[in-house]
Amino acid sequence: GGGEGIMDCLFCKIARKEIPSALVYEDDLMVAFRDINPVAPVHILIVPKEHVESLADLGEQHRELAGHLLLKAREIAEREGISESGYRLVSNCRKDGGQEIYHLHFHLIGGKRLGKFA
Ligand code: 5GP
Ligand code: ZN
Repeated sequence: GGGEGIMDCLFCKIARKEIPSALVYEDDLMVAFRDINPVAPVHILIVPKEHVESLADLGEQHRELAGHLLLKAREIAEREGISESGYRLVSNCRKDGGQEIYHLHFHLIGGKRLGKFA
């Protein structure tokens, strides 16, 4: 990860439909699509269309976008039928967080009992 411009960023390409994905939701601000390597029955990536590298790169100008992503994650969880039993919303941030794709995203994970953090 890192060192990539907007033109060759994988998630920017997916958001622009230049690379196919199993899209579950789209609006002006974001896309949500299924992770190619799911760790649970439901594993969806919540991704802003704007290229922000990570949580650490969010600024005051992203306040509305950040709230939008969070509320849509909740909505998608309901639609996926995992809201009652519960789920996890995670954003891996930079090196120690294990981030691999340097375009901000939240993992919406559920459909099974998840283990605790490392
Ligand atoms: P990170 O490790 O950056 O938090 O998460 C990146 C996620 O993107 C991983 O869970 C990985 O499986 C997923 N991923 C990587 N490449 C692709 C792709 O081309 N398509 C989709 N749908 N997911 C991808
Ligand atoms: Zn990007």
